[in-house]
Amino acid sequence: MRELLVATRNKGKVREIADLLLPTGIRVTSLLDHPGMPDIIEDGVTFRANAAKKAVVIARHTGLLVMGEDSGLEVDALGGRPGVYSARYSGENATDDTNNALLLKELAGVPAEKRTARYRSAIALADKDVLVDVVEGSCEGLIAGECRGTNGFGYDPLFLIPSYQRTFGELDLAVKQTMSHRANALRKFLKLLENYLVRTAS
Ligand code: IMP
Repeated sequence: MRELLVATRNKGKVREIADLLLPTGIRVTSLLDHPGMPDIIEDGVTFRANAAKKAVVIARHTGLLVMGEDSGLEVDALGGRPGVYSARYSGENATDDTNNALLLKELAGVPAEKRTARYRSAIALADKDVLVDVVEGSCEGLIAGECRGTNGFGYDPLFLIPSYQRTFGELDLAVKQTMSHRANALRKFLKLLENYLVRTAS
């Protein structure tokens, strides 16, 4: 069975990626299964650049087929912040709770209709020392007035899906997987991976 190493230690991401790749029969591993990997400095100004860097650094180091995923939240009332800084939004020692608290503070007084936001995800495929390609997905929503629900990770308790009137924190993973930024990018990634594996099979 072919291994695909996902260049992340984020358990929430790994769960979603492994779940969506389950039907393919590919064995999904992550940096949690491969200790001693080099640190990746996320200094790109776009999700694409960071995703590509994660994939290439780990593919070069291991010689394996690697997925790099970079994602984040863009809030319109904040001019697109936190964007590529989503993980570190509230500082070097940021946690999901401190990030969500800062987001609520920055949006205090902003009315519901102006709390528009989107998640973005870029996913790169690298093999040995070659960057194959990068694909992207997004998901539109609104930032709720308080945290709701315990499902998902990161900003999910604040990310409201208007058609459900529920946050990703309240919705089941199965629902998130039908519409999330990562799921949308992963659908494109699967086509990319299939084509690449066919092209390089002989
Ligand atoms: P990365 O590991 O640099 O890509 O960090 C992405 C950050 O964006 C995460 O730590 C979360 O704060 C946020 N994020 C990305 N995707 C999601 C999601 O699906 N739900 C909630 N937060 C997310």
